[in-house]
Amino acid sequence: MLDLDRIAALRHAPVPPARHIIDGKRCAASDGATVDVISPVDGLPFATMAWGDKADAEAAIAAARSAFDDGRWSGLPPARRKAVLLKWAELIEQEALDLAVLGVRNNGTEIGMALKAEPLSAVATIRYYAEALDKLYGEIAPTEPGVLGLVHREPVGVVGAIVPWNFPLMIGAWKLAPALAAGNSVVLKPAETASLTLVRIAELALDAGLPPGVLNVVSGPGATVGEAIALSNEVDVLVFTGSGRTGRRLLEYAARSNMKRVYLELGGKSPNIVFADAPDLKEAVKVSANGIFRNSGQVCIAGSRLLVERSIHDAFVAELATFAQTMAVGDPLDPATAAGAVNSLTQLEQTLRFVEEARAAGRRIVTGGHRMHEETGGYYMAPTIITGVTPEDRLAQEEVFGPVLAVIPFDTEDEAVAIANGTDYGLAAAVWTSNLSRAHRMVQRIRAGLVHVNTYGGSDGTVPLGGVKQSGNGHDKSLHAFDKYLDLKTAWIKL
Ligand code: NAD
Repeated sequence: MLDLDRIAALRHAPVPPARHIIDGKRCAASDGATVDVISPVDGLPFATMAWGDKADAEAAIAAARSAFDDGRWSGLPPARRKAVLLKWAELIEQEALDLAVLGVRNNGTEIGMALKAEPLSAVATIRYYAEALDKLYGEIAPTEPGVLGLVHREPVGVVGAIVPWNFPLMIGAWKLAPALAAGNSVVLKPAETASLTLVRIAELALDAGLPPGVLNVVSGPGATVGEAIALSNEVDVLVFTGSGRTGRRLLEYAARSNMKRVYLELGGKSPNIVFADAPDLKEAVKVSANGIFRNSGQVCIAGSRLLVERSIHDAFVAELATFAQTMAVGDPLDPATAAGAVNSLTQLEQTLRFVEEARAAGRRIVTGGHRMHEETGGYYMAPTIITGVTPEDRLAQEEVFGPVLAVIPFDTEDEAVAIANGTDYGLAAAVWTSNLSRAHRMVQRIRAGLVHVNTYGGSDGTVPLGGVKQSGNGHDKSLHAFDKYLDLKTAWIKL
């Protein structure tokens, strides 16, 4: 149950200025720069934060390097690292609602989802990796006689983590928790429009006993702070969630510097495929709508292309439109809200441009397509369903990252597979069918890192998340995530 009085008290509460966290200290930007933080809830400034540049990033990298090299964290017994991480999780949990409200004011996600998907998800993630870290064993290889082949798993060193504005705590924790659990030091760069909660949990990490320099946070522009991290020869691994455009740059930066490993979690144009034999079409309507419209479509795995078998297309779209019209869009701090604010005015305007282009091309806007509650100053958009979309349309090929659903009919399973696989992306998908063989066939044929069957958007920390094609490489979540943060070292010992 959400504590409504607490939410009301926090809604306009003053927020302490957010600083960088470098070498265990809260510090101002080296040149003193700050920026106002604008809330998408009402378009007004509500906080300030340090606005870093290259010098701040370099100071953070130097702190992380020293912390790693002197073993103050990497050299601790695993049980000690585990105790600190579990304490960190506990402190975040104690502040969960405050963190959720701060996050909502910062990025506009509806509070119910924000609480679960942000601080509480981060708590679960940190606990998962804390519990796992002292259960990682090396190997003895089945070598020829007369030698002993040992395979050690060692932390990689300094991890640069660059994260986006949707779900900063959830995605941040997906990187931080396994990286720190494995013994690495980290320099984290939050997104420009969603730094506040990550700065706060880094402060809590210090309170939990994480040694100085092990987790550093520098807020600021991608083009300066992010670039400095990505170009640094002292950063051993770069982990990133964000757009393909930036991901491409990071690969270039790695090539131009120390060829650091780069793991990318990028966008998607995920197909949600509904066959006429779906077990429960009403459920499919509701879940499909939530799969694209919650958090105003700003979800990497959003089911943004709806592929519907032609025989049920019109009825399904009609029900979907009715459902979408009942979704409460607006104040994200109201627990009744189903879809909160779009993160920024830029993002809202970009999303509206997609709609205008589709309209101009003669596609049908079945519902939505416009800004809402402009009088509040906030950035709200009506859930939007567009039919008549062709698989080649920009709307069917490019990620919108807003509450816009492109609907495409299909006649056969083969056609559905061809359309589903016909983009550069391969992040998520769903198949709705009662036919078990078809469900498994589709899972095998769809090129995506995550395929749902008869649901959309579900998963938990026990399963990996990662894309194929231009949706990225490497995986967050599950024990597989450790692979990014641990190197294998072989010892070949002649006996
Ligand atoms: P973005 O690429 O613009 O920014 C992401 C981060 O990269 C930010 O911190 C930004 O400051 C930084 N950055 C930007 N330019 C940089 C540069 N030149 N060098 C270094 N860093 C730089 O993405 P966004 O708009 O914040 O996030 C939305 C995107 O993230 C969408 O494409 C979405 O699909 C994707 N996303 C993917 C996942 C996933 O798990 N696959 C999850 C959430 C979001």
